[in-house]
Amino acid sequence: MSTIVETKEFQTEIRQLLDIVIHSLYTDREIFLRELISNAADAMEKLRYTQLVGPEVKDKDLALEVHIDTDDNAHTLTITDTGVGMTKEELVENIGTIAHSGSKEFIKHLSAKGDQKDLNLIGQFGVGFYSAFMVADKVTLYTRSYQMEAECFVWESDGVGSYTITEGEDLTRGTKMVLHLKEDAYDFAKEETIKRVIKQYSSFVPYPIIVNGQKVNTVDALWTKNKNEITDEEYNEFYKFIANAHDEPLFRLHFSSDAPININTLLFVPKENLEQFGFGRTEPGVNLYCKKVLIQEKSPIVLPEWLRFLRGVIDSEELPLNISRETMQDSALVSKLNKVVTSRFLKFLDGQATSEPDKYKEFWEKFNFFIKEGAANDFTHRKELVKILQFESSNTLAGEVISLADYVGRMKEDQTAIYYVNGPTREGIESGPYLEVFRDKGYEVIYTYAAIDDYIFGAIGEYEGKRLISADQSDLDISNEQKDRSELALSEEEVKVLTDWIKEVLGSKVTEVRESKRLVDSPAVVLSPYGTNSMQRMMQLMNKDVNNVGPSVLEINASHQMIKRLDEARKNEDTFAKIAAEQIFENAQIAAGLIIDPRGMVKRLNEILERALG
Ligand code: ADP
Ligand code: MG
Repeated sequence: MSTIVETKEFQTEIRQLLDIVIHSLYTDREIFLRELISNAADAMEKLRYTQLVGPEVKDKDLALEVHIDTDDNAHTLTITDTGVGMTKEELVENIGTIAHSGSKEFIKHLSAKGDQKDLNLIGQFGVGFYSAFMVADKVTLYTRSYQMEAECFVWESDGVGSYTITEGEDLTRGTKMVLHLKEDAYDFAKEETIKRVIKQYSSFVPYPIIVNGQKVNTVDALWTKNKNEITDEEYNEFYKFIANAHDEPLFRLHFSSDAPININTLLFVPKENLEQFGFGRTEPGVNLYCKKVLIQEKSPIVLPEWLRFLRGVIDSEELPLNISRETMQDSALVSKLNKVVTSRFLKFLDGQATSEPDKYKEFWEKFNFFIKEGAANDFTHRKELVKILQFESSNTLAGEVISLADYVGRMKEDQTAIYYVNGPTREGIESGPYLEVFRDKGYEVIYTYAAIDDYIFGAIGEYEGKRLISADQSDLDISNEQKDRSELALSEEEVKVLTDWIKEVLGSKVTEVRESKRLVDSPAVVLSPYGTNSMQRMMQLMNKDVNNVGPSVLEINASHQMIKRLDEARKNEDTFAKIAAEQIFENAQIAAGLIIDPRGMVKRLNEILERALG
């Protein structure tokens, strides 16, 4: 038989990745073993699933096990699994090119960290295979796919620029990887070393791991055990295994129930939210099991999308074992699981907010966006979600938060609604004109920094029977009626003439100019004829048209010196009055967070300065 040797180049990205992997200084390169064992376990999990759903597989009675053999004389480490194996096309696709953007993101992550190369995360980016080259200067991989007609292939590389694929000799289904160790990694050809590393990283692999003929792990479904038989350490180790994590979880929730549905669930909230760091959308991370048999890994349907940050396991005896991925989508049982577990998790969070306030604060800072996403989109759980939302307010310190329930609990006696105002920052909101009337009345105002908060408030409309009202709403009905108009204010007749005149000056930029009953210290404020300014800001962003802010309602403070002087200038037919009116209007727009075209304003400001200095 003539053997054909094909030599192929690695994709550029992989070459870069390999270069880092091979040449970096690292402290815990032993994690390569965790990555390779996890690939072996994945391949066997895939085989088990394939078998479950039907097609005939090669060597169907072959036990699902990982065998690891060390050879201290030849300095090799061999890892063999009986999983799905790979066809030639799969070899090229899975370990020669990168379909997903894992390597690119991983390289980005490494360069962001500077000299301190944290290779530990390699598995989380879907490029764990290459960690073999941390310890080996040559890797030979023998593989045969589970498909009945599949042939055997040998993949080999020194991890530098290229790899070869050769037709191989007959072997049973699965993959065998031989690592030819680097001189400084000979330690990994020692049985004790390998056993220690397995104990540390791979205790929970759900298949037997057999080192030189001896089984070293206990195959254990932790989530089916009794809570008080499990130590914190075991939980954390399990989390590290299932989440491919290297740190400990922030929260864990382990519960079992029989009604309304049989469930064993173990969920973890990670310490970090990778989406926050710009690593793209987090993939769901909860696996669906039936009596310890994996039905769907990283299930996208067993929990709502906004819970994609959770890691863990949901096991239900009631799921039919041979449920297919297609029918699962419509399964009433899966939606019931989804609903029950989600509610339970939300109840758990609500409890943590009181019992573990510091940890909860950390959770909220890192994961609040997911909860808000849920509150905005998930009608089924909206009520429970709104309950755990937290906000800063005019009565809190920066960084301190309250819930809507806290707010309602301390509302003023004459207060009937919940007020909120949106702005980019606390300082921005507090220096703006919108809080003045509330300060005057002693009403608390919730600060919303994210557009999604306003969206949620708009969508729910009320909380516990109290309307949610944006403080910059144009029809706000909270004027200080009982307060007499200041004696110093312009008279009502004067105001009428002045507002008519301003309306004429500003033309189509305003729909209305009127006297304000909400202002104390500011000369003027703009309100949106569409309801709230935040809606207008959003429309501006969506239309990407900064020159077109749309019309506003302008309210003026008839007691303010600036407005009174403006009226005098108008009476004297001073041409400067027009310039001042335009500037007062644009200042109010800026205070509202609207984006305006700066060109006209600079010219005007120069005229104003000239006059002031002149
Ligand atoms: P990930 O495991 O996150 O997909 P890896 O870099 O660890 O990323 O592996 C890349 C791919 O190579 C896997 O998705 C799988 O398709 C394939 N692969 C790796 N090891 C094995 C194996 N032992 N058996 C079958 N396929 C494997
Ligand atoms: Mg992997």
